[in-house]
Amino acid sequence: MPHILIVEDENSIAETIIYALETEHFHTTHVTTGAEAIAKHDSHRIDLIVLDIGLPDTTGFEVCREIRSSNSTPILFLTARDSEIDRVLGLEFGADDYVTKPFSPRELVARIKAILRRTSPPKSEAQSNNSTKALSVDKNAMKVTCYGNPLDLTAHEYKLLSTFISQPGRTFTREQLLEHAWDDPGSAMDRTVDAHIKSLRAKLNASSPHCSEVIQTRRGLGYCYQPPIC
Ligand code: CA
Repeated sequence: MPHILIVEDENSIAETIIYALETEHFHTTHVTTGAEAIAKHDSHRIDLIVLDIGLPDTTGFEVCREIRSSNSTPILFLTARDSEIDRVLGLEFGADDYVTKPFSPRELVARIKAILRRTSPPKSEAQSNNSTKALSVDKNAMKVTCYGNPLDLTAHEYKLLSTFISQPGRTFTREQLLEHAWDDPGSAMDRTVDAHIKSLRAKLNASSPHCSEVIQTRRGLGYCYQPPIC
């Protein structure tokens, strides 16, 4: 049973999260301060941390920094302001995902399950060979296979898809995708990314219906990759 540490100083929000998680048979521990969060994390086996950014004694960013200095426990941030989203998306804190308040408990649980799916063992193997069960990247050959079948991708499509697969669940802004997949990002435009995503989705869909929705649009933010379940 996964053990989720909930770091949230607003009890009503914490209770909603606890109810949603325990309904799905997660084990939860709730704390309200950053100091308690670090102490619990150090003394218990924690599978994932739901971390509010605005805490009474510190910020969620500082708690994340402290935990990340020694441990890679997955962290999902709860954000309340656009300025916080920018910092989370900048990934300077190594967060695995975030949700913005107010959020639907169902969406939160779905995100937590997705993070646990991709971070549960064999994590090191998944990170080292950069593969998922359905989609697999061969960096040397610069090819991606979908259920063992090679995809016929352009250079930009290959770079986009391998960028996504390297960090499942991460939301990339269009600017970040341009930086990863274009040699001269300044010469391309945001809608260039959209056009390539469209063709990439079509190729993935043609290869396997399981892969038709792996690249998801995050409205107003960018795109993220969710590995197919099958
Ligand atoms: Ca708070």
